[in-house]
Amino acid sequence: MRPAGRGETDSLYFDYPCFDAPEKARGATLSEPTPVAIVGAGPVGMTAALALAREGIRSVLFDNKSTFNDGSRAICVARESFYILERLGAVAPFVEKALGWTTGRSFYRGQQILEFNMPDGPSEKFRPMYNIQQQYIELYLWQAVSDSDLIETRWQSEVIGVRNTSDGAILTIRDTNGTYTIAADWLLAADGARSPVRGMLGRRLAGENHEGRYVIADVQMNHDYPTIRRALFDPACRPGGTVLIHRQPDNIWRIDYQLTENEDADEATREDVVRRNVEAVLSEIGHDGPWELEWWSIYSANTLALDDYRDGRVFFIGDSAHIVPIFGVRGLNNGLADAQNIAWKLGWVMRGKAGTDLLDSYSPERRGATVDVFENATKSARFMTPPSHGWRVMRDAALSLALDHDFAGRLANPRQMTPYTYGESPVVCPDDPAFENGPEPGKVIPEARLQQGYLSDHLGPGFNVICFGAELAQELEDRLAAEDDIRVLSLPARSEAAHVFGAARTAAYLVRPDRHVAARWHQARATSVITAYRKATCNNGAEA
Ligand SMILES: Cc1cc2nc3c(=O)[nH]c(=O)nc-3n(C[C@H](O)[C@H](O)[C@H](O)COP(=O)(O)OP(=O)(O)OC[C@H]3O[C@@H](n4cnc5c(N)ncnc54)[C@H](O)[C@@H]3O)c2cc1C
Repeated sequence: MRPAGRGETDSLYFDYPCFDAPEKARGATLSEPTPVAIVGAGPVGMTAALALAREGIRSVLFDNKSTFNDGSRAICVARESFYILERLGAVAPFVEKALGWTTGRSFYRGQQILEFNMPDGPSEKFRPMYNIQQQYIELYLWQAVSDSDLIETRWQSEVIGVRNTSDGAILTIRDTNGTYTIAADWLLAADGARSPVRGMLGRRLAGENHEGRYVIADVQMNHDYPTIRRALFDPACRPGGTVLIHRQPDNIWRIDYQLTENEDADEATREDVVRRNVEAVLSEIGHDGPWELEWWSIYSANTLALDDYRDGRVFFIGDSAHIVPIFGVRGLNNGLADAQNIAWKLGWVMRGKAGTDLLDSYSPERRGATVDVFENATKSARFMTPPSHGWRVMRDAALSLALDHDFAGRLANPRQMTPYTYGESPVVCPDDPAFENGPEPGKVIPEARLQQGYLSDHLGPGFNVICFGAELAQELEDRLAAEDDIRVLSLPARSEAAHVFGAARTAAYLVRPDRHVAARWHQARATSVITAYRKATCNNGAEA
């Protein structure tokens, strides 16, 4: 909602573009079949289109709106998402605009009980977390999408029908010119939390709704506090409640405050009431200067997901597949990882570089990530918003104890976003027990500084074999010479990379296009690497 007198997209700091519907003159060509159709040009749909384009695959994006998502949604983008954006060639404006941060502070009744720092240091290319408004995320993705010859976007085009066939999907689309159908080999449903595609295919989300409602308000003000996430438990401005405060670019601040059981949602979202409550929070954090209200909304946490993210030729990605509480900042971050996961797999299958069984690993890998989020988010949600009197008594006892004891303060540490480990994936090999540390199979590889730049700067776009030892590297290069989608990277056995990979001479890691480890060997042999590569691409019979 926006203050009285301002329209839906009448923002204090962001100019919403208006995208035209496809021209009528193009009507005759609109029904051409497409390799991949993507429903929803939100952040996840656009990321999927870019990731497919990186694989050389053409797609058509449909969105029923004429502009980006309005209002205020995701603001916290995790380090791993920056790697995804980097691989799409889209990260530069994000790095320039977003506010990187590492620190969070929790307060109980006005007194600081915890300061946590997320892992960071000179070996890291990106900060652990960045704050940037979802409007900018969509704008920067859109700039990359509109630069791509392989992506066609049809705005003001509503998908009103979807049907699976034996070798594709048929979509019915309605735009200002009328209704038409289009055939696609594959369909990605990135059509958000209410996903009409989900409904059209008769699929339902399952899970829980959590206690607690929050008002989310964005305000613009000059407030001299660094980019540190603040959580206020039982503050004087909201007795018994929780307040979260985040800084965003353009002097925009996100204030989330919990409503008490007695507060009526309609009343609490009235402009004058929001202004009064925001004023109280601002006065609590020592801001007595002017401020302007940008936007507000009401929110309650859900943990809901599909049982299977695949239905025939249709894959669900982002919010259409899962709805997670915002406290863990995973909705968008997990959606980008979904898009990356299905896009490289689809690209490899469509280019004949991988067996079709590879597509069956999408749902277990990404649904596993959602279930993991649910576990953590449920703990966070219970701490932020105790669901019963008993939970509240325990939570308040921990917070009181934290006033004098550091260990109790750690309970108020919100669980941070870390990429999920695909340990159970059918296309990831069992670990080599000889390793004592370093990333096990299924994990995302760590960053390391090399003599020139970072490790991630040297990775090829497909699979990579990171070898610690020149002899093995040479042998692999010879054996894999015919493969143009696998790069062999030879690193010194005494290096920062060897240290973070827990690797001695002759160790090797097979790394997938999404930077997850497919297999590792303490004493690698070329034949083992080739076997693991076949397993990771479901190419069991193929010659390597
Ligand atoms: C208040 C709030 C705060 C949040 N904070 C965070 C955060 O800090 N970090 C984080 O990671 N996540 C956060 N999230 C979650 C994040 O906003 C979502 O996860 C993200 O927007 C999901 O992107 P998506 O592309 O899957 O879906 P959406 O952004 O919902 O996009 C779906 C698109 O599909 C289009 N569409 C729908 N139906 C059709 C149809 N029939 N035909 C054509 N097009 C259609 C819609 O117009 C829309 O553009 C927050 C969410 C909210 C509400």
